[in-house]
Amino acid sequence: QSLAVKGVQALSPYQPGKPIDELARELGLNPDGIIKLASNENPLGPSPKALAAVREALDELCRYPDGNGFELKQALSARFAVKPSQITLGNGSNDVLEVITRCFADSSSEVVFSQYAFAVYPLVTQAIGAKGVSVPAKDYGHDLDAMVEAITDRTKLVFVANPNNPTGTVHGAEAIESFLDRIPARVLVVLDEAYCEYLQGEGYVDGLSLLERYPNLIVTRTFSKAWGLASLRAGYSVSSPEIANILNRVRQPFNVDTLALAAATAVLGDEEYLQRSCEVNAQGMKQLESSFGEMGLEYIPSAGNFIAVDVGERAPEINQSLLEQGVIVRPIAGYGMPRHLRVSIGLPEENARFVEALSHALGTLP
Ligand code: PMP
Repeated sequence: QSLAVKGVQALSPYQPGKPIDELARELGLNPDGIIKLASNENPLGPSPKALAAVREALDELCRYPDGNGFELKQALSARFAVKPSQITLGNGSNDVLEVITRCFADSSSEVVFSQYAFAVYPLVTQAIGAKGVSVPAKDYGHDLDAMVEAITDRTKLVFVANPNNPTGTVHGAEAIESFLDRIPARVLVVLDEAYCEYLQGEGYVDGLSLLERYPNLIVTRTFSKAWGLASLRAGYSVSSPEIANILNRVRQPFNVDTLALAAATAVLGDEEYLQRSCEVNAQGMKQLESSFGEMGLEYIPSAGNFIAVDVGERAPEINQSLLEQGVIVRPIAGYGMPRHLRVSIGLPEENARFVEALSHALGTLP
């Protein structure tokens, strides 16, 4: 008999991408020959400005971090024209997503998200014993109309990932606004913009610009993707100051450490790095799309730094063959997409190696 509370008993842990060292140990491979395109990480390596800031901050390791994240909030506030009092910092945006769920829902609540949406939404919902309502997707993306219809008297939270992981689907500003117009004020909407920096030009949807009009909106963002700091764990939400005040009561007092605060603050000033991240991503996306086209494989057009490709029913065997060739991508059967593999966009040579390994797998499997 488990001592854990009901929601937790049935919980399966989040399945991260396989670490390079783990694969190397399992298959006796040289870690230097392995490429990992499995966790939507930035292939450029960290920004030199972030690295310099971390080196400088090392002297402070014996002290607690600034629990209020004063400098990072100032920097975010200056860059995005929001008030520091609207910001809640988190140990990655996962932390913020979890704190939001704990603050605004309980075991009597319903939490609405889309089929194929980011795995952490059902996970944090289940952990607090709330009822997750998974709304069938439309063309792999969020069916926003159906999500509005799924709202009941018990609904407290709605999660929308824009762009979504693992599908890469995205909604434009008009669709998001029309969706928000139809959400009752008593229901909070979490607009998860983990990949928003990759949306360039006219496709750009800026959730932050909607905050004044929709007091029930919380926008979450991260330093893990385009800003290249996945290891340090820094994310944040922007909301009304009232909501931020509640989140700040519940989050751990030192949830973002000194190195993460320093790096995140510094990287916000590295415009060149951000631009390069987006350019490398856009080029790599084209490279993979055209390779998939040549191989006759269907893929879901993606607005993120990854792409889900349909490799057919033998996806598990193809994934195994890729691993044996030292290429780690992400199977997404756990998301209910057993035919797809999700591959993160890498450097041109990494993308080419993945394509070569995939061709080999497709050609050699019986
Ligand atoms: N939201 C989405 C949609 C994501 O894909 C991810 C990362 N996989 C996150 C949030 C969380 O990222 P982090 O905790 O590193 O900020």
